[in-house]
Amino acid sequence: MGSVYSMGGRIVRVSGDPTQPVPEETETIDAGGGSLIPGLIDSHCHPFEYGWLKRSVDLRGTSNITGIRLRLYSAVQKAKPGEWVTGMGWDQETFSDGRMPNRLDLDDVSPNNPVAIARICGHIALLNGNAIEALGLQSRVGREYERDSAGELTGIVKEAALAEVFDKVPRSAERAASDLQSVEVEAGRLGLTTLHCILSPEGFAEELEGLAGLDSSGSLSLRFRVYVPPEALDYVESKGFRKKMNNDRLRLNGVKIYADGSLGARTAALREPYSDDPSNTGILRQSDEELEALVDRIDTMGYQAIIHAIGDRAVEQAIGALAGVAGTKNPRRHRIEHASLLPKDLRSRMAHHGISATVQPLFITSDTWAVDRLGEERAGDLYPLKSMLDDGLVASGSSDSPVESMSPVLGIWASMVRGGIAPNESLTFGEALGLYTSNSASNGFDEASSSLKEGGRADMTLLDSDVGGMHPALFRKVGVAATIVDGSVIHSFGGA
Ligand SMILES: [Zn+2]
Repeated sequence: MGSVYSMGGRIVRVSGDPTQPVPEETETIDAGGGSLIPGLIDSHCHPFEYGWLKRSVDLRGTSNITGIRLRLYSAVQKAKPGEWVTGMGWDQETFSDGRMPNRLDLDDVSPNNPVAIARICGHIALLNGNAIEALGLQSRVGREYERDSAGELTGIVKEAALAEVFDKVPRSAERAASDLQSVEVEAGRLGLTTLHCILSPEGFAEELEGLAGLDSSGSLSLRFRVYVPPEALDYVESKGFRKKMNNDRLRLNGVKIYADGSLGARTAALREPYSDDPSNTGILRQSDEELEALVDRIDTMGYQAIIHAIGDRAVEQAIGALAGVAGTKNPRRHRIEHASLLPKDLRSRMAHHGISATVQPLFITSDTWAVDRLGEERAGDLYPLKSMLDDGLVASGSSDSPVESMSPVLGIWASMVRGGIAPNESLTFGEALGLYTSNSASNGFDEASSSLKEGGRADMTLLDSDVGGMHPALFRKVGVAATIVDGSVIHSFGGA
């Protein structure tokens, strides 16, 4: 039992004695037997994509190609002829059809509208014939544009080709702002106080405007740490966004680079071929020299570089590119996003250079097919959370939303229970909580938010149960009673 007092957004007193007098006119919240923890931080998510998903065709949970067709059909009926229809979230791994969908599966349900639907991973999309025509892709060559044995485009496009597709979908700063606000409400209910927000290569201009506009009118309820794609750098500098986004609430932290794709799509770059596709080792987005030049530019400009690398070959490339600028202290806290397949030699090299990582514990319970991709032995080094912490890496927790649920409670649960993949890598509750508090804070330059200490920011999450000594499997059901940012209650159970 104890109490925490805040004033002006800062924690001014932490007391173990609940009978100590409280200053007059203090708003009090009774923890009611729950647990007060530091505000939870999601260190890698895509709130604008999630907001966009919320208002486009949600294909998550479809169990076959007919399911995709039915959901698209009703959306196309509501669209005007020629209007783009977009969707997101399908996953052929969960389909009973046993094959990838192709454009012919879409053409008859959408004869007059271009359709583009992204796979759950965001690294693959399926287009219908109208979309292929509208974008003029017919003569494109390269691995990003899949063709069948007759040489026809199947409608499946990968990696860099996705940006070109989703670039055509109309956007606005107002739309971006309202998408963000709908995600903020949900994130607050889930106990999150800070989001590391990755902007999209297609919509960064509208997303930056949306964020800056909400901030200047005092409308942001959470804290945002923003990461832009390299394509945005000139724009950000010329429009002065670094100055506009440099306060406690909203800060432009760095630049997100892609080194490879995803395991689900078999585009993550591996040192050895995929166990279920022996001719394939995945795709590196750029050469070693190109990545190094990009990292050098970002470092020189004073930004934090965060590199998406899932396969071991991509992580190795990322470490190589960061080593020179990181030295052994890594003062700009450059980090690797996902670092999913991480054998001992790569963990050691990251630790040596002080390179941190963001991890997504819910991938562990979702990626049930991962053992097929990698084989039993390699899968032992997949999402090795315990070894990462033991080897001295600062691993921070995240959802990669909309890929997974934003719930940090579920993330903490998944990192403790794990399931089938490398079960010996389970974390204790203290370690799991650290992923979403002190480690996430460190990876975003927010140490002042990560503890309930005097002088720290008054960002707190109140869980509805006493979690001390709780069995890990039960943690899944823990609710969030209140979320407090800067001393203001932004969500309380039964309230906001
Ligand atoms: Zn991501």
